[in-house]
Amino acid sequence: MTSETSRFDEQMIHQAVTLALTNADKGGEPFGAVLTRGTEIVAEGVNDAHIDHDLTAHAEIQALRHAGKAQRQASHTGTTMYASGKPCAMCMAAMIQAGVARIVFAADDDLGGPYGFSTESLYRQMQGNFGHQGIDVVHLPHPESREAFERYQALLG
Ligand SMILES: [Zn+2]
Repeated sequence: MTSETSRFDEQMIHQAVTLALTNADKGGEPFGAVLTRGTEIVAEGVNDAHIDHDLTAHAEIQALRHAGKAQRQASHTGTTMYASGKPCAMCMAAMIQAGVARIVFAADDDLGGPYGFSTESLYRQMQGNFGHQGIDVVHLPHPESREAFERYQALLG
């Protein structure tokens, strides 16, 4: 973690927190996020879990979804994500996959924890190797699994 911030960082965090406030007013979980490239806003997101009945609809992931649809691409290499709260392990993984280069967040676990919004338990659960997250995982090979990869590869040329 680094601590260098700019005036633009402060403006974007203010925007993310404003999104969180508005979302809380609407009955949603109190989180907002803004994805930027340089000083351009690529997309915004709020926690839509209550609307979409989707536990993956966290603000950061929603911002990535909106960015993907708007730009017709899944990769957002080199962007910065501004989040009103400390990103959870799921959002962190999504941001890594998307190529986000920098994350700036406002509320940490000390602030969110008393309200039931600490990220610590999920980070701890994800620290183990695959299959050691407390979910029963079964590896059951299938003879046509390779064919799916082959067809994908063939279409790529
Ligand atoms: Zn999250």
